[in-house]
Amino acid sequence: MSLIKSAMRAIGVTLAGGILYVGSLVGFSKLASLNSPEIKSQGQLEQLLGEERASLEIGEDIFINAIFNSDYIYGCYGYATVSCSWKSAEKEYTIIIPVSGTVSDLKHEIYHIADGHTDWGYELTSRAMPEDFDGFKFWAYYLFYAEPQAVIYELTGLKP
Ligand SMILES: [Zn+2]
Repeated sequence: MSLIKSAMRAIGVTLAGGILYVGSLVGFSKLASLNSPEIKSQGQLEQLLGEERASLEIGEDIFINAIFNSDYIYGCYGYATVSCSWKSAEKEYTIIIPVSGTVSDLKHEIYHIADGHTDWGYELTSRAMPEDFDGFKFWAYYLFYAEPQAVIYELTGLKP
């Protein structure tokens, strides 16, 4: 086999592996969500947030603004039907839960916050992009560390 052919093949295998990996992350998260009760209101979201905060031992000094996206005003990654979370200021975080979002989705997002995953994103986006920013390192951190941990927590309630 020529060098180019082997290289193309290696890229193909890597791509297929990557798609399979990301697909199973999304799949496990969807699976957890299917078996989880839907969140129906802002009030319910806030009550659940309180319970999750307690079980993950998030300090009183941390403010979490959880928004039930009932009027589709907010979007996560451009979609009004997905959940997401981010650090909005020092000691301040935001979670968006869409209509038909579940307890499992909330658990997933709050785990990202409790375990400091969103802090890393904040460090990178709230300031001028550091000169030594390593996009590969960022995605590797997200895909192979932060995301699987949040999925494990929403699936099992275990704190990896
Ligand atoms: Zn996530």
